[in-house]
Amino acid sequence: MEVLFALPCGVYMQRVSKGQVSRWVLHSDGGHLPEMVSVSCPHCLTHSQFEFEYSQPSAYHYMWCGQSTCPACREEVYIFCIGVENDLERTEVVPKNIFLYPPGKGTRVPRSFSGGVPEELNEKYKKAIGRFNNQGHHAAFETCVDLVPQIVFKILREPPRESPTFESLLEKVHEDSELFNLVQVLQRVFDNQQSQNLFEGLSFEAAEVRASKMIDLIELLLEYFFVLPNKISELQADLDPEFDLDSI
Ligand SMILES: [Zn+2]
Repeated sequence: MEVLFALPCGVYMQRVSKGQVSRWVLHSDGGHLPEMVSVSCPHCLTHSQFEFEYSQPSAYHYMWCGQSTCPACREEVYIFCIGVENDLERTEVVPKNIFLYPPGKGTRVPRSFSGGVPEELNEKYKKAIGRFNNQGHHAAFETCVDLVPQIVFKILREPPRESPTFESLLEKVHEDSELFNLVQVLQRVFDNQQSQNLFEGLSFEAAEVRASKMIDLIELLLEYFFVLPNKISELQADLDPEFDLDSI
């Protein structure tokens, strides 16, 4: 299940599992709400017990909002409970979904590229972010490594291949120094990954940093090769309405 939840307005919240709730409180409307929640502070990452206080029943059906303060950094944290369901183990009515706001520093919010990025690449990029947010740092890294040849083939406007290899890419990009350097570096990453587990023996923090750097690279590539050319064309067309977009 995705760790991050996006509201239609583009605001992200972080999902909280019921297993993280250490104490429930009976609300005046008969449902139970999480009163004590064991999570990492989204501001300072200190793992603490957060005690939430709820306002009066919300004007919205099946939605409750509570507030707490981090015992370590004193920053405010909000909890949103949306929907209801029966907890079969406890025969109580509990919220169907529980979210924290803001999302934690250890999570990454997927970039919303404003057009130009092919859908299949965007989907795979979001898959990498989902794995990262589920703390699958190695899996996120591997998804990014898989994504690079697909990005390069798209740039080259080659028909999609089942499993493009770095060797085949090096052949294709040898005339383009920019791409050639990129693919060479990534081939080294790929080769290292074949001979050893690049995440073996890494601490949680070091694995997070390594995977995060790879996701940074993917975001930059998608921006540079798919979003930027569109933006340049748009500006050009705005400055010169006679300009033929298809000529570049
Ligand atoms: Zn804190």
